[in-house]
Amino acid sequence: MLVSTPPETPPETPPDDKLPALALRLEDVRLRISQALAAAGRGVDACRLVAVSKTFPVADVRALYGLGQHAFGENYVQELQEKVAATQDLRQLEWHFIGPLQSNKTRPVAEHCHWVHTVDRLRIAERLSAQRPGTLPPLNVCLQVNISAEASKSGCAPQDVAPLARAVQALPGLRLRGLMCIPEPSLLPAQTAESFRALARLAVALADTAGPLDTLSMGMSADLETAVAEGATLVRVGTALFGQRPPPALNSAGESTR
Ligand SMILES: *Cc1c(COP(=O)(O)O)cnc(C)c1O
Repeated sequence: MLVSTPPETPPETPPDDKLPALALRLEDVRLRISQALAAAGRGVDACRLVAVSKTFPVADVRALYGLGQHAFGENYVQELQEKVAATQDLRQLEWHFIGPLQSNKTRPVAEHCHWVHTVDRLRIAERLSAQRPGTLPPLNVCLQVNISAEASKSGCAPQDVAPLARAVQALPGLRLRGLMCIPEPSLLPAQTAESFRALARLAVALADTAGPLDTLSMGMSADLETAVAEGATLVRVGTALFGQRPPPALNSAGESTR
C-alpha cells in the first residue's frame, strides 16, 4: 500500500499581498464611474479616475499601476517626494498634487507633478510656473474654488476665480485646465450636488473670458456618482480603492502632523 505523501504546502502568500483586494476595488470604482456616466448620457471616456494614494504605501501604487491605473493623487509634499523617488521606473505614472500648497513647498510639485488641483492664489501659481523645469511641458492646473463658502480656508472665492484664471493663463510654466472643489463632507447629498452644479456653472461662465476649460475635478469616494451626474471630468478617489486611511497622527498641540 502506498503511503500518501502530505499535500504540498501552498506557496506562502505574503501578508501584505493586497493585490486581489485592490483589483476588486478598482473594478468596482471603474464600474461606478461608467454607470454614472451612462446614467448621465455621457461618453464612456468622459471622466478620468485619479487614485488618491495618500498615506498608503508605494506597494499599493505599484499594484494599481500594474492593473492599468496610471494617475495618482497625493496631498503632502514630503510623501509625494518619497513616492516619486520610489517609482522612477514607472514611465507612465502621472502624479496629481491635490493637497493644500504652501509657497515654500512648491518646488517638488513643479518638478515632479503632471497636475496641481489646488491652486487658489496667484503667489502659488507664480512660483509653480517659475519653478517648472523648461524641459517639461507646462504644469496642468486646476483652480480650487471654495464653492459653498465653507469654513475651510482652502480655495479662492467664486468671485475671484476669473481674475485668477486670467493671471494663471499668462504664466508660461502653467496650463490652466479647469476648476476643482471639495464640498464639505457634512453636506446633505442635495447640497453636495448643488455645490458641484455651482462649480460647473462657474466653469461655463469662465469660458467667456478664459476660453473653454476641459476639466472639472470633483467627486470622491462617497459622492463620485453625484459629481459625474453634474459633469465631473475627473474624480479623486482614495478610500474606495485603498481602504480606510489611518486617522492622522496628532502632535501634543492636537494638530495633525501631516
Ligand atoms: C483625500 C482626498 C480625496 C480622496 O478622498 P476619499 O474620500 O478617500 O475618496 C480626494 N480629494 C482630496 C482633495 C483629498 O484630500
